[in-house]
Amino acid sequence: MLLTSYRKEIRRPKCNPSFERLHCIAHLDQDISEVLPYLNAVLGGEAFFKDPPTLTIKVHGKRVTLHPKQIAINALQDEEEADRILEWLKKEINETWQNRDKITPLFESPKKPEVFQILKFLPKTNCKKCGAPTCMVFAVQMAEGGRSVDQCPEMSEEQKRKLNEYISQFQGLSPA
Ligand code: SF4
Repeated sequence: MLLTSYRKEIRRPKCNPSFERLHCIAHLDQDISEVLPYLNAVLGGEAFFKDPPTLTIKVHGKRVTLHPKQIAINALQDEEEADRILEWLKKEINETWQNRDKITPLFESPKKPEVFQILKFLPKTNCKKCGAPTCMVFAVQMAEGGRSVDQCPEMSEEQKRKLNEYISQFQGLSPA
């Protein structure tokens, strides 16, 4: 087991302490540098930097950054959500480390969905039924991982299927 323990620290944004979203920093008791390129390959990271090794992933719309001895999670609803994501990450880190002989490590930022490719599958009527002002805005939000196919009620089943197929190439795993 690579990661056995950590200390969790919950912070509220300094600019507005009453802001309802929390930030969490987990201070790791072990150094996870070596697993990060493997985890990047397994989870489909958003960004990877080699020196020092740093991996950023999106988990249920939250940005999670893994450093050698620290994990930072933003925009959490409550402490339980932080615990759930941290325990899931611990499991992924240890399973990935255990299986590293079968994984090709990835030392660069993985490809992301392209906004114009997403837009091709949308109806382009700018009807606003999804809450976005235009289909282009919806496509940008989807490329960032903040939207799903089901949120556009105007798409045909065939359009949904094709867009899901395109998006699924870029998606990693997430906690249940
Ligand atoms: S609901 Fe669909 S068609 Fe309407 S604006 Fe949103 S993305 Fe475009």
